[in-house]
Amino acid sequence: MSSSTQPASLNPTLFERAKRVIPGGVNSPVRAFRAVGGTPRFIARAQGAYMWDADGKKYIDYIGSWGPMILGHGHPAVLEAVQKAATEGFSFGAPTEREVELAEEILKHVPSMEMLRLVSSGTEAGMSAIRLARGATNRPKIIKFEGCYHGHADSLLVKAGSGLATFGHPTSAGVPPEVVQHTLVLEYNNVQQIEEAFALHGKDVACIIIEPIAGNMNFVRASLPFMRRCRELCTQHGALLILDEVMTGFRVALGSAQSLYAKAIPGFKPDLTVLGKVIGGGMPLAAFGGPRAIMEQMAPLGPVYQAGTLSGNPIATACGLATLKEIAKPGFYESLAKKTRSLVDGLQTAANGAGVPFVGDSEGGMFGFFLLPQLPQNYTQVMKTEGAKFNALFHGLLDRGVYIAPALYEAGFVSAAHSEADIDATLEASTDIFKLMR
Ligand code: PMP
Repeated sequence: MSSSTQPASLNPTLFERAKRVIPGGVNSPVRAFRAVGGTPRFIARAQGAYMWDADGKKYIDYIGSWGPMILGHGHPAVLEAVQKAATEGFSFGAPTEREVELAEEILKHVPSMEMLRLVSSGTEAGMSAIRLARGATNRPKIIKFEGCYHGHADSLLVKAGSGLATFGHPTSAGVPPEVVQHTLVLEYNNVQQIEEAFALHGKDVACIIIEPIAGNMNFVRASLPFMRRCRELCTQHGALLILDEVMTGFRVALGSAQSLYAKAIPGFKPDLTVLGKVIGGGMPLAAFGGPRAIMEQMAPLGPVYQAGTLSGNPIATACGLATLKEIAKPGFYESLAKKTRSLVDGLQTAANGAGVPFVGDSEGGMFGFFLLPQLPQNYTQVMKTEGAKFNALFHGLLDRGVYIAPALYEAGFVSAAHSEADIDATLEASTDIFKLMR
């Protein structure tokens, strides 16, 4: 159906229709606008930095499919690769050369990994990495941090952030307590807590899993002392450090967030890395990887089972590979980072001008901001943002054609397709709204 011929009432109608057949009308909870109120926009198409909803309204897109669209929508080289792959076959259930090529390309940029396995979602990748960590160490316990999200595997739905936080449930129904009894949830950036946890449970801890920059509580960096201590304690106690770079991987730097920590902490590297989003360029593709000795514990070589009918899908790998080739070009991240930083700086100036408390941060093409006087360090501090204020900002921007994440605890994303004019238009809209928020 062509969007331009639809009546203005299409959106509510579509949402009503959706709610009849899909719980809450959406296939992933945060899309429902439950946190911010109002009706979700149904997107009809996207190109470059823009999306058009089913009513034909245009938005500057700062969600980018929650991270994958680092080149913007419909990049010609990616489109061509996907179209070509589609003519060759959708799925074979047998190995392909492109899977090898994609693995080689990823490993080239993330040297902590010697091998990886491709899967179809970040959830699968995180869940499999944890199974591997437990299998490789023969230990049951895992440590995660409040506000970090690693997908919706049962053992991780313990005070998880993201969509769950909206509904105020610390855990999901349907997860028996026995299933999460080995999951320790600690405060992000709290060195004392990890020390205590290892003192108490060290010999039983299989892994720490952590988002190095926590994009599921907007944008909170793991401090250097905290990351260093996570690494040291894992090494001392024979546990594995898993960096969940589903969001930060190839988004904040070509070498992912771990390359930034490695610059600041000599010798730093994770044992396992979880990737998703950008490596699939918008197609269902994710991965987990690490040293050969650990990865060879996976079936069919080792005792840790994991599988997938569509894993390494030929079209998804074509999309991911074409995306990675573009972002590996010289100067790509410098230009992306500069643009992203100019957005955050501009927002800061606009908020200051209106006397609205505001603080922002960015790395590469990922950014976050808080309607708070200073950058939060953990989930409790993040949640001090006044929801009503954020909602006013969100809807004000949406009305003016700027689409940011519909929840205050989600990061934002700038793509290579965003122009200076897009950033300027965003800042102009924000200046208007900040004035109204005084
Ligand atoms: N880990 C992180 C850090 C994420 O941000 C996400 C999704 N936003 C996931 C894991 C889960 O990925 P997916 O939604 O592809 O299952």
